[in-house]
Amino acid sequence: MWSTAVPGTFVTVLLIWTWSVVAGDLTIFLAEKSGIVGGIFIIISTFLVILTIICYWRVILIGPGSPLDFPELIPNDIDSLIPPPISLQWVTIKSDGNARFCNKCKVWKPDRCHHCSGCDKCILRMDHHCPWFGTCIGYKNHRFFFQFLIYSTIYSILVGILSSWYVWKQLENGMISINVMFVAILGFVFGLSLLGFTGFTIYNLLTNRTTIEQYERQRYRHRRFDNPFDLGWKNNWHSVMKFGLLTWLPIGLQNDINGGILFDNDRGQDLIARLSGEFSRV
Ligand SMILES: [Zn+2]
Ligand SMILES: [Zn+2]
Repeated sequence: MWSTAVPGTFVTVLLIWTWSVVAGDLTIFLAEKSGIVGGIFIIISTFLVILTIICYWRVILIGPGSPLDFPELIPNDIDSLIPPPISLQWVTIKSDGNARFCNKCKVWKPDRCHHCSGCDKCILRMDHHCPWFGTCIGYKNHRFFFQFLIYSTIYSILVGILSSWYVWKQLENGMISINVMFVAILGFVFGLSLLGFTGFTIYNLLTNRTTIEQYERQRYRHRRFDNPFDLGWKNNWHSVMKFGLLTWLPIGLQNDINGGILFDNDRGQDLIARLSGEFSRV
């Protein structure tokens, strides 16, 4: 609880504080140049801050999802471990060829699932553990995490640039507003780091790899392909972000049929390719 309450309170208060400076000094400065520009700026920045806060809390409150939520993945008899039937469809396996099992959580690990030491439990389609949220980014909250990145990046860069302009103009008049200067520094520091992270996340979404999969080699049943979950960039994007309005707004849930314990993979395509090769030789 504290692991999410502390960063949650800090990030929310920080965002609201920056917005209070933006809505005060910065908007007045812009409105003096042009009333319309000032009006548009305050509407856009307010919209971005609200969306950022909603996405942020959706990531925390929805959580990443765990195999412990699936009774069929929890063995009845811990002494004679029999993998569940669904494990035959998993492509990630141990070095001995068997399905993966978490000895800490006592649960079968589906494809792309990892045990997080920060959360102290197994996480579905684990991407990474994020200290800024105090929780993992995984199957259920990945879409909201990406939305958070988009809105917070645009907000930080927009506010960073305009605050710097304001500070620059103030310096010409020999005055300085510490609050706006601090917002300008925060805007640039967070804007640039978030921009890099957003780019990396877009690349991961388009290639259908998690951050863990980018850095760790997994052992797959069929190792003909590097990444068995790569279904082409369009399907890869859709598998997490969906299409249409849902992609951009923090609404709905990640509730497809397999619920994060079974993922589309190219194993089927691989089999079809090999079978058609065998048929053509007959
Ligand atoms: Zn575990
Ligand atoms: Zn975690």
